[in-house]
This record gives sequence, structure tokens and C-alpha cells, in this order.
Amino acid sequence: MQVEAIMLLYLLLTLGGVTLLALYTAHRQRRFAPTQSEDSIFRCVDCGAVYTDDADVDLSRCPQCGRMNDPIRF
Ligand SMILES: [Zn+2]
Repeated sequence: MQVEAIMLLYLLLTLGGVTLLALYTAHRQRRFAPTQSEDSIFRCVDCGAVYTDDADVDLSRCPQCGRMNDPIRF
């Protein structure tokens, strides 16, 4: 009876450790996963430069030539 209790305790501690390790790994992966960018993508009509700007702007100035461009909509 004593040996069975020790084996059960050992088994439960091992399973608990593996469970905690799995939860910790899942938490780390979630925290370091790349977040989806909320920026809009712009392509300059004049020089063809592709760049990003904030999602809430209707027109964005091209960093290459200064022309105002509409965001690309998918
Ligand atoms: Zn441009």
C-alpha cells in the first residue's frame, strides 16, 4: 500500500509537471507570435514604390517622390 501511494504520487507529480510545461510553452508561443499589422498598403502611381501607413488615413504621401496615393484594397 505504501509503495502504491508513492508510485501514484510520483505519477501525479510527473503529469502535473508536463502539463505545466505544456501550458508555459503555449503561453510563450502566444506571446511571441507575430501580430497582424493594422497598417494600410500603398503603391505609388508615379514611381511604383510600395509602402505602408496608418489604416485610418485616406491618402498617404509617397516617401520616394511625395505624390499622394490611395491605399490598395484587397
Ligand atoms: Zn512615388
